[in-house]
Amino acid sequence: MHQPTTEPRRSIYYDYQVHQPWLASKNPAQPRHSVVIAGGGPVGMTAALELARHGVPCVLLESELQVSEGSRAIVFTRRSMEILQQVGVAERVTQHGLPWRFGNSFYRGQRVFRMEAPQDDNDRFWPMINLQQQYLEEYLVDACEAHPLIDLRWGNRVTGLAQHADHAVVEVDTPEGLYKLETEWLVASDGARSGIRTLLDLTLEGASYEGRFVIADIRIDLPLPTERLAFFDPEWNPRNTVLMHREPLNIWRVDYQLPEGETPEQALEPESLKARIDAQLELIGHGGKPWEMDWCSVYSARTLTLPDYRAGRTLFIGDAAHLLPIFGVRGANTGFQDAQALAWRLGLICSGQASESLLASYSTERVGAAWEIIDEAGKSTRFMTPPSRGFRLLRDAVLSLSLTEAFVRPLYHWRTSRPHEYTHSALNSAGDDNALFRAGPAHGAPPANVRLGADDFLLDHLGGGFDLLVFGSVVPADVQATVKDWKAKGLKLRVLLIGQGAQATGADVCLPDTEGRARARWGVKTDGAAYLLRPDQHVCARWMTLDAHRLNAALKQATTGVAA
Ligand SMILES: Cc1cc2nc3c(=O)[nH]c(=O)nc-3n(C[C@H](O)[C@H](O)[C@H](O)COP(=O)(O)OP(=O)(O)OC[C@H]3O[C@@H](n4cnc5c(N)ncnc54)[C@H](O)[C@@H]3O)c2cc1C
Repeated sequence: MHQPTTEPRRSIYYDYQVHQPWLASKNPAQPRHSVVIAGGGPVGMTAALELARHGVPCVLLESELQVSEGSRAIVFTRRSMEILQQVGVAERVTQHGLPWRFGNSFYRGQRVFRMEAPQDDNDRFWPMINLQQQYLEEYLVDACEAHPLIDLRWGNRVTGLAQHADHAVVEVDTPEGLYKLETEWLVASDGARSGIRTLLDLTLEGASYEGRFVIADIRIDLPLPTERLAFFDPEWNPRNTVLMHREPLNIWRVDYQLPEGETPEQALEPESLKARIDAQLELIGHGGKPWEMDWCSVYSARTLTLPDYRAGRTLFIGDAAHLLPIFGVRGANTGFQDAQALAWRLGLICSGQASESLLASYSTERVGAAWEIIDEAGKSTRFMTPPSRGFRLLRDAVLSLSLTEAFVRPLYHWRTSRPHEYTHSALNSAGDDNALFRAGPAHGAPPANVRLGADDFLLDHLGGGFDLLVFGSVVPADVQATVKDWKAKGLKLRVLLIGQGAQATGADVCLPDTEGRARARWGVKTDGAAYLLRPDQHVCARWMTLDAHRLNAALKQATTGVAA
């Protein structure tokens, strides 16, 4: 019998709330569900909220009775914020998080590189925002619990799975014993050690790195801005790397690499932790300041993915699907994109508007994203923790040369997580004008935001289904008729007319573009140009001039993966 702990986890700044377990005996008999999600971490909860946005009810099974232990993911990217905006929690993250855009790298005591993440007045969110994962999870829990389509069951652990042609049967263990759930689809978001992966005998592909890091959160009052700090080869930790990040509530993340051969047990000895954190504080000129430990752990980087995110009726997202290094903040940030990419497809399938073959593109797109990230993250990881003498020589040469030579700075592998562009997706229209555009988001790219007013942005107006952005002052009559046909078939499709403040026939939303910002960011030169965005906001077609025939073809392709 599953007995999740009922003791609140320990933290010096976060009050853990222990929720009541969901018990089958107190609830009516179980029908067959459309979707069951196993794992209520940040990615599983985002998937539940996204599904709900597409009108799909789900059961969300969470093994524990409280949110995750320790701060874990503390850096969320702009694209994550745009996704979180759609599920209604971005505002709370903005209120409590610490936004930032600069990073500093030090080598043997000297600053050798200052990273500046681009920030455009047209973006609502900063490139990065720091917030402890527990808070983000709490906001997601509140949103899930408030949503009538989400049945969040605390203390429910998936322990068995039988897959059939058109459904799966999930065995769930609870504090009062086992029960079974039938579902058309099972979404596995049960984290890095995914039991569902094991139940299905699936193997991750990729590499694991040897370098180990202590991850420690301390409370200390440091008068420093929110900027990433990286120290290569510091005196107190020769040949190794140390990172520091500010978190809300005077909490600082200190990550330091361990000398070769040191075990996690040795590294987590209180005296060892104290001596090293004191040495790091000394290094930054704040030695002797009082500090308190909140949470610490030992971490080593892995770059692993499943080769296919669909196994029968089970679909994998988040850490259950891939394990990505935390350098470059790739774990949770990548998982949100999985959740978003999967949910709209399941929405179409569950409402009968698409066949399950649409899921093939989910797997291809997101496995492709994972491999791209693995490639980039592998470079950052090898830079942080050189795996051989050759890599170390190269890394140290870059560091010392960058004191004086600008040309080596691009060799810094400090790229942080960015959204994958589905350039070659089967859902991209085969007959549009993508190749004719000279600017703007291309096939498969996420959308470019545009400031429309003091607190008004283009992305605030998107969401919930396909969006057709038409630039100009009219929606052509044949396009209106095609949109009407698709809407009549039940497809969620909205027309946004950009450049026209007042109402216009055939437009669901009319947005002014008096300064021409939208045209500039979307690479539009003439009236009549248009973009079609999928429900995850990625571009699947764009036209210099739109007509009904090509719109129809693009919508068919985006909902089937087959060129019309
Ligand atoms: C030290 C550290 C620092 C990190 N820093 C960053 C960062 O700065 N940025 C970033 O993007 N990522 C970071 N990450 C990674 C990030 O924490 C993970 O990528 C993220 O939590 C993945 O979310 P998830 O929902 O997929 O999995 P998890 O957060 O692991 O959630 C899985 C959930 O499933 C539940 N569960 C497990 N098994 C079952 C079961 N059988 N039945 C039901 N429920 C189950 C678990 O209780 C858990 O709640 C960090 C990770 C660590 C460890």
